[in-house]
Amino acid sequence: MILSRGPTQRNSEIAGLLLSPFLDGLLSCVFRESPMQCQECQYTLWNIRDRVCPECGTPYSIADYEFPANAVRYACPHCDQAYFGTTRSGHLKPREFDCVQCGAHIDMDDMIVRPADGSNMLRVHGRTEFPWAMRRKRGFFASWSRTLSMGMARPGELGEKLPETGAIAAAWYATLTMLAYLLVGTFPFVLLTAIPMLMGRGGGVAGLIGAILAFVLMPVGPLILVATVLPLWAGVSHLILLLTGPRERGFSATFQCACYTVGNNIAFALPCLAVYFFWLTIPWQITCMTIAVIKVQRVAIWRGVLAVVLPPLILGLASFVGLMLLMIQATQWQQQFNP
Ligand SMILES: [Zn+2]
Ligand SMILES: [Zn+2]
Repeated sequence: MILSRGPTQRNSEIAGLLLSPFLDGLLSCVFRESPMQCQECQYTLWNIRDRVCPECGTPYSIADYEFPANAVRYACPHCDQAYFGTTRSGHLKPREFDCVQCGAHIDMDDMIVRPADGSNMLRVHGRTEFPWAMRRKRGFFASWSRTLSMGMARPGELGEKLPETGAIAAAWYATLTMLAYLLVGTFPFVLLTAIPMLMGRGGGVAGLIGAILAFVLMPVGPLILVATVLPLWAGVSHLILLLTGPRERGFSATFQCACYTVGNNIAFALPCLAVYFFWLTIPWQITCMTIAVIKVQRVAIWRGVLAVVLPPLILGLASFVGLMLLMIQATQWQQQFNP
């Protein structure tokens, strides 16, 4: 809470430091954000004292909306003293306090809000629900991209808003996301195969069958990932949480954190370059998943880090050792056959 407009204070999380403003900016250009409206009837809700829509009576809360920092003027309902929201969501911090002017104890949700610059055109985010859970209401693509950007840049918010149930929805999201990446990543190869074929210089029927088969089999990779790798990872992580103390929610929540951060592996959408870049994007997923798990399970940082980082670390080390052993074995065979 500040009394006058100050510099924007962005309390970004480590993973979102650079990407969050970029992604948010990009997404707000591409996908609609609405003015401060009733979510039922689109009535404009600026400058209203009651917390129900004057048009249709639907209750709402200021906390349901997100504003750019310092863009909204909160007025004390008793004396009209102005305050400005400084958090990343444009909310007041602390949420409740004693008014500096009249001394009344006020909460953010008691206050009258309007855009600080007096225009009614300020764009806001409605933020009542987890974006992927809103896909029927808000549209599939908008919900998908908002979930994606949340997993990439706002993992803390992801953990806070994670729905109580929804492991299936999360698995569905992860499958679709990885499939989309795979389609984009392999598109140049598809073109390279398809063009000669269309020009009549392909492998004939066999080539065509091969291409169709490759296309049909493409979802298998993402399905295996979502059906085995992610549950295993989340399972071991959750077991570590169980062994190290209390946690807030069940396995489903840990699994959802794995699913909703899988989109951070954008390397898989890069044609030919996945091999070089997934070493960067997998740690990005691990970081974001850790933050989300810490938030949703309300555990200490060390427990979150231990739970989420240990399974891939062990797997990575095991693969490394396995590869080394294989190479030693291969050298021995070579010596046997070429004395
Ligand atoms: Zn309404
Ligand atoms: Zn006051």
